Amino acid sequence: MTTMNRGAAGSGAQRAEAGLSIVVPLFNEAGGLARLHERLGEAARALGARHGLRVEVVYVDDGSRDDTLAIARALPATSFDLQVVSLSRNFGKEAALLAGLDHARRGAVLFMDGDGQHPPTMIHTLVGHWLEDGYDVVYTAKAHRDAESLLRRTGVRAFYTLLNWGARQKIPEDAGDFRLLSPRAAAALRQLPERNRFFKGLSSWIGFRQIRVDYEPARRDHGNSSWGYRALVGLSIEGLTSFSVAPLRLASLLGLLLAAGALVFGGWIVVETLVFNGSVPGYPSVVVGLMVLGGVQLIMIGVVGEYIGKILSELKGRPVYFVAEHCERSAAGSEAAPTRTAAE
Ligand code: UDP
Ligand code: MG
Repeated sequence: MTTMNRGAAGSGAQRAEAGLSIVVPLFNEAGGLARLHERLGEAARALGARHGLRVEVVYVDDGSRDDTLAIARALPATSFDLQVVSLSRNFGKEAALLAGLDHARRGAVLFMDGDGQHPPTMIHTLVGHWLEDGYDVVYTAKAHRDAESLLRRTGVRAFYTLLNWGARQKIPEDAGDFRLLSPRAAAALRQLPERNRFFKGLSSWIGFRQIRVDYEPARRDHGNSSWGYRALVGLSIEGLTSFSVAPLRLASLLGLLLAAGALVFGGWIVVETLVFNGSVPGYPSVVVGLMVLGGVQLIMIGVVGEYIGKILSELKGRPVYFVAEHCERSAAGSEAAPTRTAAE
């Protein structure tokens, strides 16, 4: 079984050739893959004609349970070089993106979803910003979120406010995973050693010249988004704790506020007893205070626990993914046999 260690990833940058690698994570995308492949072919031919770019597509099958892998294996490599990387199980989108980044051989890297929501026709716009205007990170953002519920929009806003709180490099709100990295930006991204990855944050954090492009996400071709509310909350916690210490600061701030409140309240009781000769009210206020304190403390222990969990998983140093199968074909027609690493 091939192990892609984070340590080995750096070699990708050195062996990079000129051109563009398009990384597409696939999880149960059998329904739309052939169509996407066609559209990518059109985009690649246009790029070749316009910019003389040599394009490679890296499909990362993230342990799909349908025919995605079989379909991907059989796709022709007519307009671009093709790599199909199949992970040993479902590791999640961020891991799939990392696997794609590790395998990408061309200098620049473009990430896009495999469900047709990121229109391949936009690729030439992104490439134009890179080649003609000299930008290093070209990221896309949803033009608007009108289709989403108020609850979801509020949640997203709260997430980014917390994420960017006190941060020097703000992560742009609404930025999606559809983005292009120039060779030096891709090389920078490869150098980041962490295992808990949050690509949106990391590609903003590396700096360089960044530009935002608004776009209208298409509807999903088929199937359903794999992100329900639960998964989104999970991703938010993941993003927050792997990226910022804002929740810990919030804990300190809350502690400070509560302590200040208690001080004022305590002072008021003293004044009430001594000056106004009032009788101190009974235990309800004490019980409420205890419950508030207990709740806040438990939540904050949970927050600290999230960070300790992160430290543990970084410390264990496990590979982010395993590759079960890897095959590649070059556009010239010379077909390399699939390397089935799992069975050997
Ligand atoms: N994806 C993946 N692994 C997963 C879940 C999703 O590789 O565990 C891929 C999926 O195939 C798609 C992309 O990530 O190409 C985005 O997934 P989805 O459309 O479900 O997310 P959304 O567009 O709702 O953010
Ligand atoms: Mg989608």
